[in-house]
Amino acid sequence: MQTSIDTTGMNGGKRAALELAEAAREPAHTRFAGGLFMGRMDSAQLLPFAGQPAGDAAEGETFLSWLEEFLRDHVDADEVDRTGEIPDPVIAALARRGAFGIKVPPHFGGLGLSQTNYCRAAMLLGSHCGNLTALLSAHQSIGAPQPLLLFGSPAQKARYLPRVASGEISAFALTEADAGSDPARMTMRASHTPDGSAFLLNGEKLWCTNGTRAGIIVVVAKTPEREGRVQTTAFIVETRWPGVEVVRRCRFMGLRALYNGVIRFHDVRVPRENILLGEGRGLKVALTTLNTGRLTLPAACTGLSKRCLSIARHWAAGREQWGAPIGRHEAIADKLARMASDIFAMESMTLHTAAMVDRDPHADIRIEAAMAKLWATETTWRIVNDTMQIRGGRGYETAASLAARGERPEPVERLLRDCRINTIFEGSSEILRLFIAREALDPHLAHGGQVFDTRLPVGRRVAAALHAAFHYGGWYPRLWWPVLDAGGEVAHPVIKHHLREAAVASRALARALFHAMLRHGPALERRQLLLGRLVDAGTELFALSTSLAHAEAHFERNGETAAITVADHFARGSLRRVKEALTPRSAKTEDASRRLAREVLDGKLRWLEDGAVCGQTSHASATPWSLAA
Ligand SMILES: Cc1cc2nc3c(=O)[nH]c(=O)nc-3n(C[C@H](O)[C@H](O)[C@H](O)COP(=O)(O)OP(=O)(O)OC[C@H]3O[C@@H](n4cnc5c(N)ncnc54)[C@H](O)[C@@H]3O)c2cc1C
Repeated sequence: MQTSIDTTGMNGGKRAALELAEAAREPAHTRFAGGLFMGRMDSAQLLPFAGQPAGDAAEGETFLSWLEEFLRDHVDADEVDRTGEIPDPVIAALARRGAFGIKVPPHFGGLGLSQTNYCRAAMLLGSHCGNLTALLSAHQSIGAPQPLLLFGSPAQKARYLPRVASGEISAFALTEADAGSDPARMTMRASHTPDGSAFLLNGEKLWCTNGTRAGIIVVVAKTPEREGRVQTTAFIVETRWPGVEVVRRCRFMGLRALYNGVIRFHDVRVPRENILLGEGRGLKVALTTLNTGRLTLPAACTGLSKRCLSIARHWAAGREQWGAPIGRHEAIADKLARMASDIFAMESMTLHTAAMVDRDPHADIRIEAAMAKLWATETTWRIVNDTMQIRGGRGYETAASLAARGERPEPVERLLRDCRINTIFEGSSEILRLFIAREALDPHLAHGGQVFDTRLPVGRRVAAALHAAFHYGGWYPRLWWPVLDAGGEVAHPVIKHHLREAAVASRALARALFHAMLRHGPALERRQLLLGRLVDAGTELFALSTSLAHAEAHFERNGETAAITVADHFARGSLRRVKEALTPRSAKTEDASRRLAREVLDGKLRWLEDGAVCGQTSHASATPWSLAA
């Protein structure tokens, strides 16, 4: 398959990575968030805010109130952290109440709840215990239930969904020692058995969450090439089958009770009927599963941030220093205000995106989910860090030590440790920025990509240029028109005002992206800093517009203005950040930064490491220090 991106100038590794990712990519259906990069704020997709319908909330209520009570009364999250184990009775109780099959339809033994209710469960879990969140989320967001629901054949669903819904733990194995963000480097192989009825799986997977306890693992492996192209295939593998071995359990800075490990597969016979979706479609299974699956993280982060707000509020209101509660000193007050408005934004993005799935289970939420994950995980890291700062020394002290001194055992240091991984797994921030940029550029690649594609005959490129000129001749001037109205029916003037500002900013973003394309052509793909800033601007606008719509919904429901105040505060900061992101940087500064990094990589600045005890071998250096001596 030829990608819509010209890969001829790339080195082999990069071309392989890009071609594999492109082959697994579905054509985009531009929704609200994608439109922001085209200067289009489509209010009809935003307003009225699709909060959770009352009926759906009622359906989730029994399970969610049980879960809240169960977590509070029966899960000692600090003990789980200390021992590195989740007690079996906790797992058994969760399984009995359906927590392993929240979205699985009742006829397969699950609770059959909506995506929004699932996100609300993730919020409760995230606020209380990162380890349980990871167990349940790795199981049903990326483990077997999600790909089975999306791609399972009727026989696969009938066979496996009842098992996983009733508590048989599952996992997802893509990462290998040499294949982290770049699945093209995967070495795990699945070869046909001589009679063609099965595959033999060989290789080793790294950091497989739940892998040390799972009964079922979705494994992605390379399968024999077709038409000279690498194929990847996803298999449902049962860990009781001969040849599956848990090599070791991995341990981490946080999430100390994660059942995460290195899993080895030696001649594991997997019947053909256990292929998910089809031979050669493995990466599509993995990426699509992650698209929806990664929505769990912003939900869990929202819960965690709410917990932080509660801890910070209590402490900042009660702790007096320098003649006033610390929350009254401006430096701390500002942190509290930003925390509150950021949490509202995070929740708004999550609810908006979850509602898209509830309206249409096949909705294309890849941009929305990626933006929500990127923004929420980075913001939550700052929120937990601010909470630690507000708690001062007590933030750094363990809950057990606080309790031993007779103080309230707020587990801020555990929350901070547990939360750090969120910007790394299920799509690291850097990779998500590239992913969102690719999606943002898609409409442009569709209209103008062939102009730059050196693999095409000249005639096709000229025709493409004419088509592009026609398209952009209509589209581009509109980006300069004034925005007369945005969010037509909106009742509250503050919301109306900010929506208009957001629409203006969206056009500025579209212009900046278009100008960057004209300036850099295909080389834009390498300008990660520039693309990253544009993605950050688009992501901010998504956070902003969903917050405004959410606040408007609160206001329309009962005239409540508290959410308007929060959204207004968020809008001021958010628009400032968008402006900052869209301010052109000097290419010289970015070039200088690239050159300096190259010097670091080449070891020319090793003298800067002098004076430190470094893990790696020391070096003889003609350094400025020694020159100075
Ligand atoms: C606790 C934990 C649980 C996990 N659970 C699972 C699981 O259940 N299943 C599973 O399959 N995997 C799992 N993983 C793996 C996880 O998804 C990977 O860690 C992640 O994909 C990143 O890969 P890496 O760590 O090898 O980093 P690398 O890919 O080596 O990247 C290192 C750094 O370079 C950046 N980077 C890489 N490529 C680029 C680029 N092109 N441009 C700019 N920056 C780049 C990355 O963003 C990152 O900051 C888990 C990992 C951990 C630590």
